[in-house]
Amino acid sequence: GFRMGIVGLPNVGKSTLFNALTRTAAAQAANFPFCTIEPNVGEVAVPDPRLDKLATIAGSKQIIPTRITFVDIAGLVKGASKGEGLGNQFLANIREVDAIAHVLRCFEDGDITHVEGRIDPVADAETIETELMIADLESIERRLANLSRKVKGGDKEAVEQEMLLKRAAAALSEGHPARTVAVAEDELKSWNMLQLLTAKPVLYVCNVEEDKAAVGNSQSDRVAEMAAKQGAGHVVISARIEEEISQLDAEEATMFLEELGLHEAGLDRLIRAGYDLLGLQTYFTVGPKEARAWTISKGTLAPQAAGVIHGDFERGFIRAETVGYDDYVAGSGEAGAREAGKFRVEGKTYEVKDGDVLHFLFNA
Ligand code: GDP
Repeated sequence: GFRMGIVGLPNVGKSTLFNALTRTAAAQAANFPFCTIEPNVGEVAVPDPRLDKLATIAGSKQIIPTRITFVDIAGLVKGASKGEGLGNQFLANIREVDAIAHVLRCFEDGDITHVEGRIDPVADAETIETELMIADLESIERRLANLSRKVKGGDKEAVEQEMLLKRAAAALSEGHPARTVAVAEDELKSWNMLQLLTAKPVLYVCNVEEDKAAVGNSQSDRVAEMAAKQGAGHVVISARIEEEISQLDAEEATMFLEELGLHEAGLDRLIRAGYDLLGLQTYFTVGPKEARAWTISKGTLAPQAAGVIHGDFERGFIRAETVGYDDYVAGSGEAGAREAGKFRVEGKTYEVKDGDVLHFLFNA
């Protein structure tokens, strides 16, 4: 599955947010209970009202949302790239995630110490990014040294890797994260294999005071500006509020959100923003037994989409029968969509669309 790492300086609200994410009623609503893989790893349901709608139409007994994994990566301090704090462990944890949710302290609270003694989320973001850029540069140097013999021997793969590493090093030495490097489609696979920390997409999470959760504050405005410049994502939340919401049942939570002038929990926005950042989309399988959402990357073809359910579905793939979400709803279900001529049979080269309701036919 897809993994997002929560990072940030100490005392910015990471743990508060992580606990809220994994304890919330929505996270636990799915039929297989919320599972804590490790104390700092949790799976979270991706909220999607379409799934509930489909289940209602089909009279499905169970609703199973798709999930995304969050990892609370504590321990980043200035000097982490030099092995200070939990330095190395921390960097190894970041290497394993698909994207980074970077929590920034935008709330004022004299009782809670800021490691730098001032509130400046843009500077904090730079502090962390700098550590990650240094770590990337060091790992690039090591890898270039390791590659040199193979490159001399004319190994094609090694030559390509060296070229990519040098391009990344050039950007990093000028103070630009690896994600700013332009990478061609046919280089993408090798590029991703480099697992550079600053190549991972970033979502800035502005943690603001409770009464600013709906509108943000001047600090979160600065972060929004920075995110726009970098092409990064950004959301405004109050970790404290999310913590409170996570202890309420669904009805109480809705009332509480309304009182605060919020349309939905910040966590829902955060989860969805993460989903978008990762370039993910959802398809559905719907029947009387269950309505279930599945996660795939945009551009995934039908056999690989089937493979998310089971490897056999991909290996023995024959064809997919599909109805788009809107057509399914308009037809009040599969039969109606069929009558309206919206039911399609698709082959191996079909690119699955967000919201497709799919059946797979395969050779067992
Ligand atoms: P971490 O070190 O980044 O994991 O930070 P924690 O989640 O442990 O939070 C550090 C402290 O800040 C705790 O005492 C939290 O209750 C507090 N805190 C977190 N979010 C907020 C917030 O939105 N407003 C205020 N006033 N305090 C917060």
